[in-house]
Amino acid sequence: MKVLKFGGTSLETAERMKSVANIINNEEKKIVVLSAMSGTTNILIEITDKLHKKENKEAAEMIKNLELDYLTVVDELYTDLEYKQKGKELINYHFDYISSFTRDLFSIHEERAVLAQGELISTALFHNYLLEHKINSVLLPALNFMRINTNTEPDNYYIEENLKRELKKYSDCNLFITQGYICRNMYGEIDNLKRGGSDYSASLIGAALEVEEIQIWTDISGFHNNDPRYVKNTYPIPYLSFDEAAELAYFGAKILHPSSVFPAKLKDIQVHLKNTLNPSEPGTIIKSGAEGKGIKGVAVKDGITVIKIKSGRMLLAYGFMRKVFEVFESYKTPIDMITTSEIAVSVTIDNKTYLNQIVTELNKYGNVEVNDDMVILCVVGHNIIEQKGYINKVFEALKNFSIRMISFGGSRHNISILINSIDKKNALISLNDLF
Ligand code: ASP
Ligand code: MG
Repeated sequence: MKVLKFGGTSLETAERMKSVANIINNEEKKIVVLSAMSGTTNILIEITDKLHKKENKEAAEMIKNLELDYLTVVDELYTDLEYKQKGKELINYHFDYISSFTRDLFSIHEERAVLAQGELISTALFHNYLLEHKINSVLLPALNFMRINTNTEPDNYYIEENLKRELKKYSDCNLFITQGYICRNMYGEIDNLKRGGSDYSASLIGAALEVEEIQIWTDISGFHNNDPRYVKNTYPIPYLSFDEAAELAYFGAKILHPSSVFPAKLKDIQVHLKNTLNPSEPGTIIKSGAEGKGIKGVAVKDGITVIKIKSGRMLLAYGFMRKVFEVFESYKTPIDMITTSEIAVSVTIDNKTYLNQIVTELNKYGNVEVNDDMVILCVVGHNIIEQKGYINKVFEALKNFSIRMISFGGSRHNISILINSIDKKNALISLNDLF
């Protein structure tokens, strides 16, 4: 058994959905995990935003437009009149539900239910397409087996038990379609695995069933050795270890949700990144024992804010760090990088939702300074920090840029450097030229 996950761009149009159907149409036993069609989750978020602000007229307008887009997809996807009609009814049904909140009360629970519609629609449309083409398959509702606990962590035992029970009902079927991203929480309400969470769904399903391979299909041929948006002649890295992949996924390289490496690593299941637009390309294989030599890749994480807390009280004091970290914890804001000196500590975050509140609280402990618009460059390779010369090379490549923070030695496989975002492109090119 394999798990194949297709992201939003792989389902962007009716044509692309048909290509996905071609890719999966073979005898291999598999579970196909789908995201929402590209752009849908973003629009649903905007709609829920409007609903919260009681801008119901604007919300209704957006809902109508999105529904019209889907009706076009239906028209292009199916040939048979019966399926066109079925598709239309399906779209009407989901959009009637979303529209109902322009007339009704809207809470956080309903927000999550609205956000789930993207995946519910894409999987139902796709499954109907398979049925129209007589491809035997079963649509498995992720809401029947995917669950998170009170810490919003996946409930692995529940997932395994319930997924296996669902699959048992269809022992003669080789092809299952299910939704990525969506799940239930401890209270049985509809919830989700956060943005980009479909990769995580695929990995959790793969781990629960201990499958042979987890494939993540996107619109790029695997992890590139540098950012192809800014650097010419980048190439896909053929093999990565789980640790290297986790570092690259976490720092930039949007291709894979960082959490999704962990379940696969635990069960030692290889993860294969493939390109829907170019299925014959080898892509990137993430597996144990794939450690190579030297620097494997460079990724960049945008939208970083650095916060410096300077305090005389830190001198020779214990407990200072804890207090600082507790502030971030209480606002559920993860810290990416940390550097310390005897009188100051600097940390970076990429989620500014609670920045004002955090700064207000940190002011109790010292002088706080905030700098926006930074990026983290992340240089990854097996054991690069223990091998001589790599850090010198990194500094050599970056000698013309001002460096705000460096993280070296946190993990053996990564060197992270914080620079101004205006230097991003040239710094990436410079690193690429050097390696
Ligand atoms: N549709 C969700 C999102 O856009 C989940 C995913 O695509 O992985 O975040
Ligand atoms: Mg994604």
